[in-house]
Amino acid sequence: MSGQVEHRYPLKKLNTWRIGGLAETVCWPENEEELREIWLKCQEQGIPFRLFGRGSNVLFPDEGLTGVTVISTGLAQSAWDSERVRVGAGYSLARLSQEAADRGLTGLEFARGIPGTVGGAVVMNAGAHGGSIQDILEEVKILTPQGELQRLAKQEIQFGYRECSLRDQVIILEGIFCLKSGDPDVIQATMSENLAKRKAAQPLELPNAGSVFRNPPGDSAGRLIEKAGWKGKRLGGAQVSLKHGNFIVNQGDATAHDVLALIREIQKDVHHQFGVELKTEVRYIPPS
Ligand SMILES: Cc1cc2nc3c(=O)[nH]c(=O)nc-3n(C[C@H](O)[C@H](O)[C@H](O)COP(=O)(O)OP(=O)(O)OC[C@H]3O[C@@H](n4cnc5c(N)ncnc54)[C@H](O)[C@@H]3O)c2cc1C
Repeated sequence: MSGQVEHRYPLKKLNTWRIGGLAETVCWPENEEELREIWLKCQEQGIPFRLFGRGSNVLFPDEGLTGVTVISTGLAQSAWDSERVRVGAGYSLARLSQEAADRGLTGLEFARGIPGTVGGAVVMNAGAHGGSIQDILEEVKILTPQGELQRLAKQEIQFGYRECSLRDQVIILEGIFCLKSGDPDVIQATMSENLAKRKAAQPLELPNAGSVFRNPPGDSAGRLIEKAGWKGKRLGGAQVSLKHGNFIVNQGDATAHDVLALIREIQKDVHHQFGVELKTEVRYIPPS
């Protein structure tokens, strides 16, 4: 394989929370063929296989991961054709959003400031400021559990709030997005405004994984957590952000156990106080 391979590699370096033990093996394939080869070898030999992008929506275990952890960021090809763009699953969503703006194309303004990859964004149906991936996705190329390459039109995929029917079912290799021509000044101004809102409301100066909980229908998780008195509360190295109740920040030495314990305490208390069950948006990857 031409891509990088590391053994006993710190998972901390592979996620925005900077948490996690050691991964037995980590691979950064440089193209789809390499990724497929790794996947096939793991299938043949019964080796655990996991794939991540920028790790901006996951909590890795302190105990580490056995098997092969694959990072998609090498699948970063892009090809623009007028208002359409075909991009590899490992492409940065924020970069794509900026490139669209530079071309005077509207539709990706919501994505500026979401620190994930295109593949992670499709799987999570990432969204903000009233927009989401499903609004602009046209087609995806996937690797099926049978090892086949397939193309799926958007109509063949079910999307919901931060979820998509492809999650845990297939590997996304690339996406085709369709944008619209717009006023470059308005697009840039909207993106700058969206970024400014994030900087004002989110603790971007400390390691975090974005919103920890999904917003319950008609309400905001951050509002409930703040109202329950959890802002600033700390468990080990994990702290509920003083800036935003739905963010847990790593104060330097947080473990996955700290974060999980804090999550459980918040869930218990919010349920006790308001009768609302908070569900996590962030995904815990159990040890193996
Ligand atoms: C500061 C901050 C702000 C954020 N703001 C937002 C926001 O406004 N809106 C929002 O929706 N999210 C937000 N997020 C969360 C996160 O950035 C998004 O969910 C993002 O889309 C995740 O992409 P990723 O590449 O980091 O995925 P990862 O965290 O690496 O993976 C997430 C899940 O997707 C799976 N996955 C990743 N790539 C693929 C692939 N190619 N094929 C199949 N499965 C795959 C993984 O196995 C995992 O289950 C924020 C996070 C941070 C840290």
